[in-house]
Amino acid sequence: MSKLVVQKYGGTSVGTIERIKKVAKRIARMRKEGLDLVVVVSAMAGETDKLLDMANQISSSKKDREMALLLSSGERISSALLSIALNSIGCSAVSMTGRQIGLLTDNSHTKARIKEVDANRAIKALKNGNVVVAAGFQGISEHGEVTTLGRGGSDTSAAAIAVALNAERCEIYTDVNGVYTADPNVVPNAHKMDRISYDEMLEMSSLGAKVLQFRCVEFCKKYDMPLIVKSSLVEDSKGTLICEEDLSMEQPIVSGIMNDKNQAKITIKGVPDQPGIASKFFIGLAEENLSVDMIIQNVSDEGHTDISFTVTKEDINKATKIVQELGKLIEARNISADPNICKVSIVGAGMRSHPGVAAKMFSALSKENINIIMISTSEIRVSCIIEEQYGELAVRVLHKIFNMTNAEKNS
Ligand code: ADP
Ligand code: ASP
Ligand code: MG
Repeated sequence: MSKLVVQKYGGTSVGTIERIKKVAKRIARMRKEGLDLVVVVSAMAGETDKLLDMANQISSSKKDREMALLLSSGERISSALLSIALNSIGCSAVSMTGRQIGLLTDNSHTKARIKEVDANRAIKALKNGNVVVAAGFQGISEHGEVTTLGRGGSDTSAAAIAVALNAERCEIYTDVNGVYTADPNVVPNAHKMDRISYDEMLEMSSLGAKVLQFRCVEFCKKYDMPLIVKSSLVEDSKGTLICEEDLSMEQPIVSGIMNDKNQAKITIKGVPDQPGIASKFFIGLAEENLSVDMIIQNVSDEGHTDISFTVTKEDINKATKIVQELGKLIEARNISADPNICKVSIVGAGMRSHPGVAAKMFSALSKENINIIMISTSEIRVSCIIEEQYGELAVRVLHKIFNMTNAEKNS
């Protein structure tokens, strides 16, 4: 086989029939230039939300199994349409579902993790001169159940397939030119980075820069797979290369600012301050496969304390129900849920050696009268939970205060 590249086209890139035809032309051209290609596609823009909305109109408590089957259909449609478009312009292609591409996952229906990719069928199709067009975001469990990989999961499908096929690189085509210092749709003068390290990208993805799903970056880092983010909407997009850190370069103090809107807060008031109480709640949530992000516990007052923690917005109902049941058992005073929050974060490897970065962030937020509800920090990150309505303002203010527009140190 000649050089193999795995490309992923996101929802906007295949959002209309015209765009699908355009992507097909691009793929056919690269094929003519001698590349072997496996193309992973997302559902057409808005399709996954539309399917979710239809299910929500029917019921508020849906089985994950049915949701996985429902949502996986969006990607099947776009893979078949793209394959039809390729064949119609003389470029041989075959579309494949998650099962056909051999993407094997664990049994968690809607938050599945990839166990392995059995790429034999794809290899055969490539050897027969085809472009393989795989439906992203989905796999198959050992019990033969259809599974999905969480929102944005087609990025991870592409990375896993690239690793399994030992591709030369994994290219993620989207609706922006690459990875920016902040979401370019929120901060118009954000700076596009030419390259960024896997570690910084991991932080940015986990903190809400939805341009790449976290696990996609994790896969590429683990297997040293070059990962490139580019625009499918412009012809000569150079994009951003995500690769190992270049230690010879000075690290930026703040390289990225993120806003994760997919956060919700649960507060349990009047919890008995005794060993084992917190673990009861968090074991209960973990048993239902609900991930908890930030946690704070107040200083105890007369034998009682308050605990607050965050989960994703889609998990809030399920998590509240579990916490209410456990809360009754331990006679907690009150349980409340607030979905109207977001998490604003700054990330930068240079924070390790520059004190005062967190203080600068807090004072910038306070000047705008933005109240900080929760704080968490790591060596290279500071995150604040604030009211959701102020999320975008906070990102813009922080981008300015950390002088990131001319971030030539990042390029
Ligand atoms: P796709 O449908 O192609 O997977 P997504 O909508 O998932 O695209 O991701 C691309 C979007 O990510 C961009 O339109 C942009 O608004 C958003 N984004 C958030 N943070 C960043 C960032 N730091 N750099 C680039 N894009 C970002
Ligand atoms: N269609 C899915 C979503 O909207 C997966 C993806 O696009 O990567 O989240
Ligand atoms: Mg995406």
